[in-house]
Amino acid sequence: MTKESDIAKIRNAAIIGTGINVFLSIIKFLAGSITASISLIADGINSLSDVFPSLAVAVGIKISERPPTEDFPYGFHKIENFVSLFISLAIFYGAYEMITAAIDRFVAIQVIENPIVGIITAIVSIITLFVISTYKIKIGKQTNSPSLLADGEHSRVDVFASLAVLIGVSGAFFGIYIMDAIAAIIAAIFVIRAGYETFKASTKVLLDASIPYDAREQIKEIALETSGVKKVQWIRARGSGKYFFAELKIEVDAHIDVEKAQLLVEKLKANIKNQVENIDNVLILLEPKKKELIRIAVPIEEDQGLKSPVFPRFGETAYFAIIDIRDDALSDMTILENPFRNEPKRKGILIAEWLGDQQKVDKVFIKEPLKKGPTYAFDSYYVQVTETKLDSLKDIIAEISKKKVP
Ligand SMILES: [Zn+2]
Repeated sequence: MTKESDIAKIRNAAIIGTGINVFLSIIKFLAGSITASISLIADGINSLSDVFPSLAVAVGIKISERPPTEDFPYGFHKIENFVSLFISLAIFYGAYEMITAAIDRFVAIQVIENPIVGIITAIVSIITLFVISTYKIKIGKQTNSPSLLADGEHSRVDVFASLAVLIGVSGAFFGIYIMDAIAAIIAAIFVIRAGYETFKASTKVLLDASIPYDAREQIKEIALETSGVKKVQWIRARGSGKYFFAELKIEVDAHIDVEKAQLLVEKLKANIKNQVENIDNVLILLEPKKKELIRIAVPIEEDQGLKSPVFPRFGETAYFAIIDIRDDALSDMTILENPFRNEPKRKGILIAEWLGDQQKVDKVFIKEPLKKGPTYAFDSYYVQVTETKLDSLKDIIAEISKKKVP
């Protein structure tokens, strides 16, 4: 969740922006009537139509942070995207007013008086808008707020609109009064472009468009690095205000029990939430994959082939029989020396890690219960530990494959 301080930052930026737009529209209308410049009046319309979107950002940000309710289980984050959509419509309307005002001036060209007043107004507008847009974009990026970003990008574009006004009014010095009307049209074109970008960005999120490819790949990598995840079948992620939601389907070994599968899901969720910024909700679906090959490990004291007896003391055993069962039949067997037999401490844990990580064992058969340490170690590699009363490798293989072993 966004910190309270972030929301305060966004609101402050939006409220300051609103005040600046009020100020700019007043001086532009004033200067417009003194100079009779249509580009200044058009730019004044632009600033006036920007007052309401900035205000909407300030109001919307508060609503967007309301906790989910029963009727709105996904929360209200998208309010921000609605605000952005509203901003884009306000921008289009401003541009429409600018263009109709300018077209009139092409028909009846007006002499611009006191062009210096117009020039000063345009310069004040350029500087103010540049500073406030930089500020809004900075805070918007910092807090990942799409509505403030949209507002900031818009103010940035309005810098160019005012630049066009500056050039248009300057034309009066050379007696080229038509430049004023041309400037008004050029300013309107900038405004339309800003409106289009904002419209596109907000409708994409409202239509649940996917988040960028890079962000999805990042989630996929995190999933694959999480122990127990065999494969990522698909990832779907969509934006919602400052946040996004992700759903993914992963393949896990079918032999993992439900409790361990739940732990894996929780661990993967935590990994994603810790490493991906602004993720609000992660849904993980599991696809159990039955392995064709199951590898089991059994402690034995002496190598007598399939007749080797199971050794009761897991840590002290001389050998481990590593047995591969494919399609319910014995396919391979190797006898490995217990490398940690003479280890003074933690030998059970070391053996468990070695079997799980290096030998890629799926199941272990033991005679006596394990201590906590080795149990946790096996758990973290999703190795299933089975206590057995069976006495030899032959019996265990028979039990697993449900077939008689000669
Ligand atoms: Zn504007």
